[in-house]
Amino acid sequence: MSEKIKFVQRENLKEKPDPSDLGFGKYFTDYMLSFDYDIDQGWHDLQIVPYGPIEISPAAQVLHYGQAVFEGLKAYKHEGEVDLFRPSENFKRINHSLARLDMPEIDEALLLEGLKQLVDVERDWVPEGEGQSLYIRPFVFATEGILGVRPSYSYKLLILLSPSGSYYGGASLQPTKIYVEDEYVRAVRGGVGHAKVAGNYAASLLAQTNAADQGYDQVLWLDGVEQKYVEEVGSMNIFFVENGKLVTPELNGSILPGITRKTIIELAKKLGYEVEERRVSIDELIEAHNSGALTEVFGTGTAAVISPVGKLKYEDTEIVINNNETGEITQKLYENYIGIQSGKLDDPEGWRVVVPRY
Ligand SMILES: *Cc1c(COP(=O)(O)O)cnc(C)c1O
Repeated sequence: MSEKIKFVQRENLKEKPDPSDLGFGKYFTDYMLSFDYDIDQGWHDLQIVPYGPIEISPAAQVLHYGQAVFEGLKAYKHEGEVDLFRPSENFKRINHSLARLDMPEIDEALLLEGLKQLVDVERDWVPEGEGQSLYIRPFVFATEGILGVRPSYSYKLLILLSPSGSYYGGASLQPTKIYVEDEYVRAVRGGVGHAKVAGNYAASLLAQTNAADQGYDQVLWLDGVEQKYVEEVGSMNIFFVENGKLVTPELNGSILPGITRKTIIELAKKLGYEVEERRVSIDELIEAHNSGALTEVFGTGTAAVISPVGKLKYEDTEIVINNNETGEITQKLYENYIGIQSGKLDDPEGWRVVVPRY
C-alpha cells in the first residue's frame, strides 16, 4: 500500500450540481491535486488541496510565452466502484508533451498514485447516470515571474475534477457537420502538433469560429505543408470506412496521438476489422465518396468517445455520408468501447483501473 499524500481539508464542502444538467467542464469538485517544481528541489509537495483560485505572478512565463500542457481522461462509476480508463497512457503522453516544451518530466507512477487518492476522496462526485463520468484535467504551466525568453525555473501541476454529462445528452450518437479548413493550419511537422499543448487550441479557435458561423460543428484540419492530406478534427482524431476497411491518418508528427484513436485501432482489430494507418488525401476521400467506397466517417476523442460525421464541406462541395446517419461499424465500435469503459463488458486488456479505498 502506498503512503497517503498530504491532504489539506476545506471547511465546507460544496453543494453538488443537478446530475441532469452537468454539461461539460462547468462544475468542479471540492479538491484538486497540486504538485510544484523548482529548479533546486525538482518536483515536490504533492498534495490534495481545496479547489479554488491560485495566485501567480503577473510576469509568470505561461502568461507571456505559453509554456503549458494538459491532459484529459475520465473516471466512471459502476456497482459502487470507480475506475479510471487507461490513465497510464495519459501520464506517458503528458511527459511527451512536457519534453517537447522543454519542461521537466514527472514520475508517472507517483502522479497516478496522486490521482487515485484524489479521486478516492471525491468518489461521491462521480456521476452514475448513463454516459456520465468524472472528467479529469491534469495540466502543467510555467510560474516563474521573469520576462526573459528561456524555459521557466518553476512550474505547477494541478489536476481538476469535473463531473460531466453524456456528450450526446443521453440520446444516441448524433452525426456532426464538419468544415474542411483550407486556409488556416493547426500544426506542421517539427512543430508541436503531436504534443497536447495549450497553444494548439489558441491557434485553432478562429477557424473554429468561422466554421461555426457557416453552420458547421467542427473543423477538419489538413496538413500544414500542402494542405492536401487529412490530419484530425478539432479535439479528435478521424477515421474513415472505405470498402469495409478502417482507414486513419498515420501519426506523422503533426497529429495528436489520441488514446481513443489507439484504443479504437486495437478494438477494431480484435473485432476482426482491417485497419490501415496511412496518408489520406482529401481528394481520395471525395473520390471514394463519389464511387460509393466511403461509407462511414467518425472522430475519436476522450470527450465524445466516437462522433459520427454526417456531412463534410470542402471548398464548394458538401458531401453527405451514409445518408447523415450513424454507420453500422461506427455504432458497433462505440458500443464495444463504452461497454468496456462503463463496466458492462469484459475488459480482457485491463484498460479499467480501479480506484482503491485508502
Ligand atoms: C486530446 C486530443 C485528441 C484526442 O485524444 P484522446 O487521447 O483520444 O482524448 C485529438 N486531437 C487533439 C488535437 C487533442 O488535443
